[in-house]
Amino acid sequence: MFDDLKGKRVLITGSTSGMGLATAKYFAQCGASVGLNGRSSRTPEIEAILNELKALGGEAEFFQADLMQSSGCENLVADFTDHFGGLDVLINNAGGLDVLINNAGGLGGRENLEDIDDAFFDRVIDLNARSALMVTKFAIPHLRASALESGETSCVISTGSIAAREGGGVGAGLYAASKAWLHDIHRNWVKEFTKDRIRFNIVSPGTIDTAFHDAKSDEVKSNIASSIPMGRFGRVKEVAPSFAFFSSHACAGYITGQILDVNGGQIAP
Ligand code: NAD
Repeated sequence: MFDDLKGKRVLITGSTSGMGLATAKYFAQCGASVGLNGRSSRTPEIEAILNELKALGGEAEFFQADLMQSSGCENLVADFTDHFGGLDVLINNAGGLDVLINNAGGLGGRENLEDIDDAFFDRVIDLNARSALMVTKFAIPHLRASALESGETSCVISTGSIAAREGGGVGAGLYAASKAWLHDIHRNWVKEFTKDRIRFNIVSPGTIDTAFHDAKSDEVKSNIASSIPMGRFGRVKEVAPSFAFFSSHACAGYITGQILDVNGGQIAP
């Protein structure tokens, strides 16, 4: 199972919960050295997660950084590479809608177009676009060095969204557009950095059972589930292996600029 991920240095942003945490566990099982990130400080719960990751077979450390600030993005990469001595795989997973806004001040996570103001615009774009761009920017020299040292490829994988393809629900248009921006800017990075043997791919989830959907009623969730061909939300464990596939040079060394949809048949691009 992805044998070549053993010992790889993998930074996963927004990985204290949901898909990021499930992915961290998957990489730990593969023997990788995993950097966990969240915006809040280290807690006993995070210590317990780190112990669990080590017990699974990986190395693990936590790096606090608020990625809505470019300085947080820069510090995160510096702290990770100081600790692990380099970076082989970057996973830009931090993002969201309801969770972000609620954590940031309880303003609610969705706004119709006529209610969007500058503060809302900045929050959604800072978390879903600025964070991925800035972390990637500061990671590039390390990813370039990794590819040079290994003679293989290094890579960036970002968590996109089905919303990027279909526009998002009412009130989530800006979030959907920020994910579409992410899908698109990966294509640009392919053009700029393939010469450095850095690959860029997107894992694009459909509707996955995480805190992202906490604000929805059971009735709304049930309606969404019945609209999905597989009849249910996806599970975080069903998304994590896609990140591992793209990270493995043996499996995906000739794959770049692609979007892998993990959505139970919800949309066929
Ligand atoms: P989640 O809320 O469990 O994960 C979001 C993560 O981002 C958390 O770990 C959170 O701590 C982190 N985060 C939030 N603000 C941050 C900040 N300022 N700095 C650093 N980290 C921050 O929910 P999830 O569903 O696992 O979301 C993970 C990713 O998947 C997000 O990018 C989300 O947009 C995307 N996504 C989710 C779904 C879904 O249905 N759950 C569908 C498509 C895409």
